[in-house]
Amino acid sequence: MECLVLGAAAGGGFPQWNCGCANCVRARSGDPAAAPRTQASVAVSGDGIRWLIIGASPDLRQQILANDVLAPAAGTRESPIAGVVLVSADVDGIAGLLVLREQHRFRLFAPAAILRVLAQNEIFASLDGAVVERVEVSPDVEVDTGLGVALTLLTMPGKVPLYQEAERSASRIEAATTYAARLESGGRVCVVAPACAELTDAVVSRLADADVLFFDGTLFHDNEMIDAGLGWKTGRRMGHVSVSGSGGALARLRGLKARKVFFHINNSNSMLLDDSEQRRMVEQAGFSVGYDGMSVIA
Ligand SMILES: [Zn+2]
Repeated sequence: MECLVLGAAAGGGFPQWNCGCANCVRARSGDPAAAPRTQASVAVSGDGIRWLIIGASPDLRQQILANDVLAPAAGTRESPIAGVVLVSADVDGIAGLLVLREQHRFRLFAPAAILRVLAQNEIFASLDGAVVERVEVSPDVEVDTGLGVALTLLTMPGKVPLYQEAERSASRIEAATTYAARLESGGRVCVVAPACAELTDAVVSRLADADVLFFDGTLFHDNEMIDAGLGWKTGRRMGHVSVSGSGGALARLRGLKARKVFFHINNSNSMLLDDSEQRRMVEQAGFSVGYDGMSVIA
């Protein structure tokens, strides 16, 4: 199974359009050690022909143009994009669907809660139901995508999207779930997990059989946004476990057999910089920092 990172940054991208933090300034200046990254998405293919896109980021048009394998064959109006999997109802997880509204036939896989968000937002009616089949996927139940790849949505500890927060009580936020996509083809397993609020024993054990893991690298430190004066929320509050720390991804995922790649990386996270101490720590622990166009064979 071929896995291609379409976008390795978190929502807002790197650099973020309205951010002048030290990292974004370096990325904007063309610094080769601060490569720009688009918003989180991974494409996978079992046959190298038909591709399944995990996460429809607002940068999807740019991501398709940047990756030749997603280009239509000359003389056709047939995209290799045969399916899209939605794992979050955040703007950065669904807005890219609007890019795919040109009467192209594909299958849209999502849990009921995310399909409801689409149904309630009239703008997504631009994806003609006669052309784009919406397939409801129950969490933890494997489905055949019909593309040579089996899909299971794994429930992960998370939060509700920011725009829905006002309608929810704090306890509902605690109980809300987000999803990781587990993809299996030819006996090989890839897990794409852009958001995970906590690495419980149960979560870690569910990642144990992955050959490749793309994991939430939003923040290096839980207090990073606050310390940099960029916001008032901790990573945990935003639904993202940090990379460092005793309960963080480096400590908790280190023992997994998978090739481990961070993506969904916020622009405040200095592991984005090739020459940072954070990058050194991540690589020393056996993890990689994802970048746009990164190809990994599972
Ligand atoms: Zn920034």
